[in-house]
Amino acid sequence: MSVDYDVAVIGGGPAGSTVASYLAGAGLSVVVFESELFPREHVGESLVPATTPVLSEIGVLDDVEAAGFPRKYGAAWTSAESRNVPHNGFTGLDHDFRAAEVMFVERDQPGVDRDYTFHVDRGKFDLILLKHAESRGAKVFSGARVLNVDFADPEAVALTVRFGPREVPFRAGMVVDASGRSTLLGRQLRYKVSDPVFNQYAVHTWFEGLDRAAVAPSAEKEDYIFVHFLPIKDTWVWQIPITDTITSVGVVTQKKLFAEANTDREAFFWDFLSSRPDLHKALQDAQRVRPFKAEGDYSYSMKEICGDRFVLIGDAARFVDPIFSSGVSVALNSARIAAKDIIAAHRAGDYAKTRFAGYEEKLRRGVRYWYEFISIYYRLNVLFTAFVQDPRYRIDVLKMLQGDVYDDEEPKALVAMREAVAAVENNPDHLWHPYLGTLRAPAATA
Ligand SMILES: Cc1cc2nc3c(=O)[nH]c(=O)nc-3n(C[C@H](O)[C@H](O)[C@H](O)COP(=O)(O)OP(=O)(O)OC[C@H]3O[C@@H](n4cnc5c(N)ncnc54)[C@H](O)[C@@H]3O)c2cc1C
Repeated sequence: MSVDYDVAVIGGGPAGSTVASYLAGAGLSVVVFESELFPREHVGESLVPATTPVLSEIGVLDDVEAAGFPRKYGAAWTSAESRNVPHNGFTGLDHDFRAAEVMFVERDQPGVDRDYTFHVDRGKFDLILLKHAESRGAKVFSGARVLNVDFADPEAVALTVRFGPREVPFRAGMVVDASGRSTLLGRQLRYKVSDPVFNQYAVHTWFEGLDRAAVAPSAEKEDYIFVHFLPIKDTWVWQIPITDTITSVGVVTQKKLFAEANTDREAFFWDFLSSRPDLHKALQDAQRVRPFKAEGDYSYSMKEICGDRFVLIGDAARFVDPIFSSGVSVALNSARIAAKDIIAAHRAGDYAKTRFAGYEEKLRRGVRYWYEFISIYYRLNVLFTAFVQDPRYRIDVLKMLQGDVYDDEEPKALVAMREAVAAVENNPDHLWHPYLGTLRAPAATA
């Protein structure tokens, strides 16, 4: 029996629409099933520059630029405490551990032709990407939820898709799971493994009229993404410009701290924020324009991210804590790397797992770097501040913050940070020993 499409994609978020654009552009027949009707709201609004080469390659960068999203030239981190942290031989610490900032212009990034990326309203951004996939020839069904994928037939995959009250069967040569954190195949095939260390929880909303300049070190930096540390363990706040006047704000903490607070989202949000009176006041003076939303169930990996006739991409493949705004760049780059293998598999008429080995290796390596970087950040926060400011390491740290993690070389700053954390952990008398956090993840490399 013939197939309806060469490739079926589950989910029309950034990962799904990007892979569909690549595949349709290469002449494959592609269908995207998206359960929602776009535009729909979505968390994850601040991009990193590693998205630029992908948006450019699929030909949608001009549309994204034309949408007028705020430009993101850099990132900044602030902390309330004026701690007298010993410098331990690090130089360039002009902000003395209370703040750090980087600008993307400081490092040339392969394939990136501009010194900014964007903060995006995901409703609009995801719609642009999905429409673009359609314009490249992908067939898009919206309001179409994939219920399950049957791999019993060795010649094709069979999908059951719900359109309102109807269930409709489809056959395709292979399937790409881009269903995000609902991880359709990961759950169906029981591949999902919860992260043993990170179990974070976020409550977020949008504000109109927040005085962003009040928290920025200088006026030209007010449109950076800000990560504000609260004086509560492993807890931070994101501040992301969505338009000239609207700002997305979210509080991230360990899920158990939210549970212990034993309160609702709104009370939790304000209670935790009151630990930073400057921020609390600025937000109270602004007007909330969306209900509070919560995100849990994050940070997990998959035992497999590909197999005979399937590949998992984006959040459906892996989710790591969003502290460095890595999610959309992982979605886009996993789509880019997977598309290459899928096109080759299609041309060879063979969708066996071995065809996706290149994708698996590259993605696992890139995400492992992110994961270890994030783990070190939580484990010894002062180390990140020191590394980002010390001229010996700054550019290497920036490489990771740009999302530039898919080449073969292990980031040099990561190696040095790993050694520094081990030195602090192994020496109870180390001046930074008291600053060790409680979350302790294994190193990425043995
Ligand atoms: C608290 C928090 C903060 C974050 N902040 C950032 C940030 O600042 N920057 C950043 O880059 N990332 C951030 N992220 C991560 C970002 O949200 C994701 O990495 C990104 O959206 C992944 O894209 P995706 O296409 O893989 O999945 P999604 O964007 O989730 O898209 C998946 C799509 O699949 C559809 N779908 C699901 N199941 C089915 C089904 N069965 N059938 C059909 N369709 C289906 C969904 O409706 C959805 O549209 C954050 C995440 C969290 C939780």
